[in-house]
Amino acid sequence: MPTYRDEVVVLRTHKLGEADRILTMLSRRHGKLRAVAKGVRRTSSRFGARLEPFMVADVQLYQGRSLDIVQQAESLGSYGADIAAHYDRYTSAHAMVETADRLNEAEATPQQYLLLVGGLRALSRGEHAARSVLDSYLLRAMALSGWAPGLGECARCGRSGPHDTFVAQQGGMVCAHCAPTGAARVDTATVSLLESLMAGEWERVDAASAASSAAASGLIAAYAQWHLERGIRSLSHVSAPQEGDR
Ligand SMILES: [Zn+2]
Repeated sequence: MPTYRDEVVVLRTHKLGEADRILTMLSRRHGKLRAVAKGVRRTSSRFGARLEPFMVADVQLYQGRSLDIVQQAESLGSYGADIAAHYDRYTSAHAMVETADRLNEAEATPQQYLLLVGGLRALSRGEHAARSVLDSYLLRAMALSGWAPGLGECARCGRSGPHDTFVAQQGGMVCAHCAPTGAARVDTATVSLLESLMAGEWERVDAASAASSAAASGLIAAYAQWHLERGIRSLSHVSAPQEGDR
C-alpha cells in the first residue's frame, strides 16, 4: 500500500462534505501537503483534536489519486490550546502559519518546518511577547528563503553602514544616496533590535523598549508584505506590543 509517514504542522483546514476536512500542512520531509482527514469533524473521531491548526503531529498518509488521506495521527505538540487562549498569541500564530502557507514547494524545507515548530512552541509557552516571536519568525523565514533584509551595508548599492533609512522595496537599510526622499528614518536602537530578532538574541529582544519593538514590528510587517507580494492578511489583526507585554 502506498503509504508514508512524516511530521507535520497543520496550517489550515477546511470542511469537506458532512464530516471530513481537507488539511494543509507543512511537513518536515515532504514539503507542503494537502490531505483529507475523514470523519474528523465527528465528536467520536479517532483523530480527536490532533489535526487542528497549530498542532504538530506525526502522521501516516495514504497516497490517494487526487488527495492523500490521513490514516493515523499522533500528537507531537499540542500548542493549540495555549495559543488560542490568548488573543495576541493566536493572531501571531495565525500570521506565522499563513506565512508558512505562502512558501512555494522549493522553499518548504526541513529548516522552515523546524523554524515554524519552534515559533509555535515559544508562543504556547508565553516566554516572550507574542509579537516578538512573530517578528523573529518572519525575519528568519524570509532569510531561509533568501530574502533576508540588509541591515548593515546599503541593501541597494552595498555602501558600508550604518545607515538610518529602511526601505522595504529596496531590501532593507539603505544609504542616503539610495533612499528615496521622504523615507522614514530608523534609530540605531531599532536597527539593533532587528539584528537581535534575526539572530534570536532573546535577552536583547525582551529588554527592548516598547517604542523600538513597535518600530521594528512595523518595518518587519512592511518588509514581509512586500516580499510575500499579496500581503499577510493576519498581520492587520496583530496589535502593536504594549509596555510589559510578555
Ligand atoms: Zn546605497
